[in-house]
Amino acid sequence: MAVRVRYAPSPTGVPHIGNIRTALFNWLFARHEGGAFIVRLEDTDRTRYVEGAERAIFDSLAWLGLDYDEGPDASDPSRDIGGHGPYVQSRRAETYRDHAAQLIEAGHAYRCYCTPERLDEVRKDMQRRKLPPKYDRHCRDLPDAERQQSRGLPCVVRFKTPLSGQTGFHDLVRGDIMFDNDTLDDFVLLKSDGFPVYHLANIVDDHLMGITHVLRGDEWLSSTPRHILLYGAFGWEPPAFAHLPMILGPDRAKLSKRHGDTSVLEFRDRGFLPEALFNFLGLLGWSLDDRTEIIDRETFVRHFSLERILASPAVFNREKLEWMNGVYIRELPERDLAEWTVPFLEEKLGTPIDRELLQRIIPLIRERIKLLTDAVGMADFFFLRGDLEYETETLLGKKLAGDPAAAAAALRTIVQRISGLERWEHAPLESAIRPLAQELELKTGDLFGLIRVAVTGKTAAPPLFETMAVLGRERSLERLDAALRRLQAQASV
Ligand code: GLU
Repeated sequence: MAVRVRYAPSPTGVPHIGNIRTALFNWLFARHEGGAFIVRLEDTDRTRYVEGAERAIFDSLAWLGLDYDEGPDASDPSRDIGGHGPYVQSRRAETYRDHAAQLIEAGHAYRCYCTPERLDEVRKDMQRRKLPPKYDRHCRDLPDAERQQSRGLPCVVRFKTPLSGQTGFHDLVRGDIMFDNDTLDDFVLLKSDGFPVYHLANIVDDHLMGITHVLRGDEWLSSTPRHILLYGAFGWEPPAFAHLPMILGPDRAKLSKRHGDTSVLEFRDRGFLPEALFNFLGLLGWSLDDRTEIIDRETFVRHFSLERILASPAVFNREKLEWMNGVYIRELPERDLAEWTVPFLEEKLGTPIDRELLQRIIPLIRERIKLLTDAVGMADFFFLRGDLEYETETLLGKKLAGDPAAAAAALRTIVQRISGLERWEHAPLESAIRPLAQELELKTGDLFGLIRVAVTGKTAAPPLFETMAVLGRERSLERLDAALRRLQAQASV
């Protein structure tokens, strides 16, 4: 039987790490097995619907390269890709109503006419008696006459949960799991507005869409016995279940916003490469051999198996993710790395950048960046026109502080020695400048610091002579001149 798995997000917010890890594991399993990866939007809870969430779901999938075989068309979610649609639950309301009616007919579900006020009373009463708040099953055995009378009144449809016994299933990650039926409520299947709750819609769709394996976060484990009961009531074979381990923050609490960025698109905007996040997420609860950290997409697909999913929680370690990103950055061909940094630089500079110049900068910075955004601070000054912005104190540094005249004299000498260089390249620049330290009675570090701030506006920048070489004769001299003018102005006050 061909594997069919699904990622079934609810558009109640942007996908975060835990959620997209579920998508990734489903995708990996489908690709490993040569099966189908299906995307289904579970949007029946209209009160929790968040504008823009669907877009964020599609963008997150696309950015991570998780292509799907069936699902809503990302460019127009009112259209479907695949033959088991619609893949958006709000467009399947009729199907759920039909199925709820089937269950009523077969005696597995009933209409409940209890008003919200009555349900509130029941809940309070349970609380007073220190019992878990459950519905008291008032309408479960309503006499026929009363049921007739209530016809047409607002109602919900509830499942007739067995009053005793146990419901069990085999989880491919957690092993055999058993729940006592008396801990389960007569849960709602259809709300009074005719919309289904998650349990009904989820299993009806999994069945009708031919889902063979349900891989989902372990927060859904406690829902599974209800699902097993529903499958039984419909007379359907349930799919296999695998509940993925929880993801914890470094403090061992469940990963949440409190731990910083957790949304996929935030990682994108912070300068992570999708391949790095892919690798990192793939190891949150799965391992190749307990050792290997850098694993490419093809290797994941080749080796992914449900047997190697861990049952114990996975810890989200941001430093490890940053390290991994650095590794992926250094593995990228220079041309590709340049392309990845373009949007970040253009956003900072507010104008299209010279890609040829960027090509020449990349070798100077690639060993030094962990995030694509790091490239902005290390490369923006190459593209700026006109005077750089920095403090004159920064230019002077500690050693020359209070002596702008000496600093000016040093810069003047430098300019004299280098402006006529035959070749404006690393080696001749270095040979011309390095010996000047001794001549000017300055420490090499102080002299280089002065030049660095003059040409880059920063105290930390890529290697100095390479930087000057790439920046070019004209712009380097222009900036040295500007610095000199500043120092002269300062010296004459
Ligand atoms: N809509 C649920 C979610 O938001 C799906 C859970 C499941 O996979 O069954 O994650």
